[in-house]
Amino acid sequence: AKQRETREFQAEVRQMLDIVINSLYTDREIFLRELVSNSADALEKFRYRSITDKDIIDADLPLEITIEVNDKEKMLTISDTGIGMTREELVENLGTIAHSGSRAFLRHLGEAGKHDVNLIGQFGVGFYSAFMVAKRVRVLTRSYKPGAEGCEWVSDGVGSYSIGPAEGLQRGTKIVLELKDNAGEFASTDNVKRIIKRYSNFVPFPIILNGEKVNTIQAIWTRNKNEIKDEEYTEFYKFIANAYDEPLYRLHFSADAPLAINALLFVPQENFERFGFGKMEPGVSLYCRKVMLQQNAEGLLPEWLRFVKGVVDSEDLPINISRETMQDSALVAKLRKVITGRFIKFLGEQAKSDPDKYAQFWKKFGIFLKEGAAADYTYNKDIAPLLRFESSKSEPGKLVSLDDYTGRMQDGQKNIYYINGPNREFIEAGPYLEAFKLRDIEVLYTHEPVDDFVLSNLAEYQGKKLVSADQAELDLPEPSEDEKQREEGMDSLELRNLTAWMKQTLGDRVNEVRESKRLVESPALLINLDGAMTSSMQRVMQMLNK
Ligand code: ADP
Ligand code: MG
Repeated sequence: AKQRETREFQAEVRQMLDIVINSLYTDREIFLRELVSNSADALEKFRYRSITDKDIIDADLPLEITIEVNDKEKMLTISDTGIGMTREELVENLGTIAHSGSRAFLRHLGEAGKHDVNLIGQFGVGFYSAFMVAKRVRVLTRSYKPGAEGCEWVSDGVGSYSIGPAEGLQRGTKIVLELKDNAGEFASTDNVKRIIKRYSNFVPFPIILNGEKVNTIQAIWTRNKNEIKDEEYTEFYKFIANAYDEPLYRLHFSADAPLAINALLFVPQENFERFGFGKMEPGVSLYCRKVMLQQNAEGLLPEWLRFVKGVVDSEDLPINISRETMQDSALVAKLRKVITGRFIKFLGEQAKSDPDKYAQFWKKFGIFLKEGAAADYTYNKDIAPLLRFESSKSEPGKLVSLDDYTGRMQDGQKNIYYINGPNREFIEAGPYLEAFKLRDIEVLYTHEPVDDFVLSNLAEYQGKKLVSADQAELDLPEPSEDEKQREEGMDSLELRNLTAWMKQTLGDRVNEVRESKRLVESPALLINLDGAMTSSMQRVMQMLNK
């Protein structure tokens, strides 16, 4: 066997540990949630492997999590009979390989101003929260793989850790915490029991604390809606989303046709992609009759719904379906269709019944709906009514929907108009709005370049074309009498001479200079040839081509 050796933590891990160890936190107890959730993951992974792999160490061990506390010695130990880790995995998972999460988490800690360590699990570095309460952490682990040898990892969280062989281990992982002098409360059975109840009640494996089982294992999604308390839902959400807050939205529904489905879906309070953590993994797990088939199942929902957390249970799925066949199975495609349709409908209902709350949702998660509207041709038409924009007729800061817009179109107005600019002031100072203002026609303001991709990909809404206001042919209704009078300033010969001279002077920099009826105050404006990309899209393309 390999000998004992000492290794340095990778730089970002070290920095993060420094903060974790040296700051005082009110929420230190979340370390237990993180360790329990790692054990539950390890058990889940083992359970899944044990379906196919026949050669397994300690095949008969019960799948459970055991926690022992010793008040006298101020120790806490958490063990599981999960998948375990080989020496290589131990090195990789706990300390050397750059976890992209530790950098993102550091950035988040800096940004939040206060040290909001509660979110640590979201960044994929939850294990290190053990150092909030422990002056020394020992990890004893043995992989399920035949022939795997036991290993020990020890660290005080400062700079380095040591790793070496360990004898006499059974399959799984045992984590021993020597508690800090100011963390003695985590060696109290009552306190630890309260913490498990609070954060880990729904863990689908028994949690046994000093010999007594403490968690309630139940499939809340199969129960009757009317009998479930809000707190139970929230508790369940916290468990599956690894979250500490209340969900923003919750949708619990069942269906019988075309498939038997029980689904419980949540929208979190926060969009973690905003913290630069990279693209989120899917957050909805797939079950059949309360047995998990796949955690965070790929392909169960379209990609743009990756911010949704929850559980989908369908008794129509074969229980031994493999991950590979699952992804392209017709059954899963059917499930996806039903759930996505139902979720879109739900968002529409929420937008109607509580527009302020929906605005809050839109601010954080609107970007995902835009992604769907721009790229998912199965659902873009259904997503369109959920989109929100500022407009020339909205109060600053308030948003309108495409339905709001079409509901107040002018007589004779054929199209829906939009114009891109970084903010309201910028757009309203430009010349493009003049012709619209004069006719009292509403224009949507789009502030992100992606908005123009969304609207030009959608192309139309309820039979009305979506048209960028910087296009040449706008086909606006007849101008009013007032405007007609303004046009008598110059005769047509003078105008032709002027535009010819301008074209000659500007040369290749413009395609054409032509007379326009759309300007009221400004002498000239730049427009796009019809059908071409909007100017904001051109800016994006120019950036990409550099
Ligand atoms: P995350 O759980 O989000 O991956 P953590 O920092 O909590 O991040 O854990 C890092 C990794 O360490 C896990 O992905 C897993 O591979 C490994 N690990 C942690 N605890 C255990 C355990 N009890 N059994 C097996 N592997 C574990
Ligand atoms: Mg974890």
